Amino acid sequence: MGYCTEKKIIIAIDGFSSGGKSTFAREIAARLGYIFIDTGAMYRAVTLYALEHGAIRGGILDEEKLAGMLDEIDIRFRFNPQRGASDIYVNGELAEGKIRTIEVSNFVSAVSGIAAVRRKLVAMQQEMGRNKGIVMDGRDIGTVVFPDAELKIFLTADPAVRARRRYEELRAKGMEVSQEEIERNIRQRDEADQSREVSPLRKADDAVVLDNSSMTLPEQMDWVTERLNSLGISTECGTGPAGT
Ligand code: C5P
Repeated sequence: MGYCTEKKIIIAIDGFSSGGKSTFAREIAARLGYIFIDTGAMYRAVTLYALEHGAIRGGILDEEKLAGMLDEIDIRFRFNPQRGASDIYVNGELAEGKIRTIEVSNFVSAVSGIAAVRRKLVAMQQEMGRNKGIVMDGRDIGTVVFPDAELKIFLTADPAVRARRRYEELRAKGMEVSQEEIERNIRQRDEADQSREVSPLRKADDAVVLDNSSMTLPEQMDWVTERLNSLGISTECGTGPAGT
């Protein structure tokens, strides 16, 4: 174990869908002993609520209805030691499995384009990072949520590689999905995330780009360790590799 610095920073990881952001962010957080927040899970949680409470009906999203429901939606994270990561709860109910379905994926970009939804979730995210020591992944973390984050990473990977990873991840969880359907969904979300009016996905000017198409997780960790060390942050303070 190396020395542990008192200095805590904010690490913002943005990028396209299924680019391995959460896996990377979780691992960094575990090494540093930081909190890890997957903000995509928060947008998915709101989408799940909209589906379960009639704000999405017959394939149509009623934006006003959902905006009117936002105060009823309580989102919390609770650390799950078995996964080495936090599970998301919506109004007290574990929602981790339910938010990853293709149905939620198909509506989440539309939901995340609603200004009132973004206002609520961005305020929550900023509060979570008030004391620093946090790794947050999403689409607008380095641009909107934490424009002053000390380390900003923009993760990219080939769309076909991303679709393959997502396919394998969902199949491993026992979900029946086709690779074509996933690739279509990823392309649609990339397009929607980049072209929406509020907080579109874009690289922050001061973000470092990492293309992980042909990189393993240990290789990505070596890459980030160098950057962290140059910021005076030791990666020996956490609990070691994250659980899965
Ligand atoms: O990261 P994940 O793919 O689970 O995110 C689901 C969706 O949530 C994205 O496609 C995007 O539309 C939205 N999102 C967002 N801003 C974030 C995180 C996610 O708009 N910070």
